[in-house]
Amino acid sequence: MAKDIGIEVKPPKQECNDEHCPFHGHLSVRGQMLEGVVVSDKMEKTVVVEREYELWVKKYERYEKRRSRIHAHNPPCIGAKVGDRVLIMECRPLSKTKSFVVVEVR
Ligand SMILES: [Zn+2]
Repeated sequence: MAKDIGIEVKPPKQECNDEHCPFHGHLSVRGQMLEGVVVSDKMEKTVVVEREYELWVKKYERYEKRRSRIHAHNPPCIGAKVGDRVLIMECRPLSKTKSFVVVEVR
């Protein structure tokens, strides 16, 4: 059984025994929740999520497009692939560059 992680997402149908899975392991999530698109799934249990957002530039009175890439943990029960729109949730730092975990594929 997937445990309730405190946010409104549909729990994954599969089970897994990943320690760093918020549903089946011992990882708690808190902080920021972001949405983006997976641009790389080449790493083991890690995906790169790209997020595009707009920032108001006062001097020119218009928005500029910005994008950022975030490394996120991809538990086996979720298994996000390149091109998937995913919801990621902040967690404790899992490695030097990873402090987010994928919680849902949209
Ligand atoms: Zn899992």
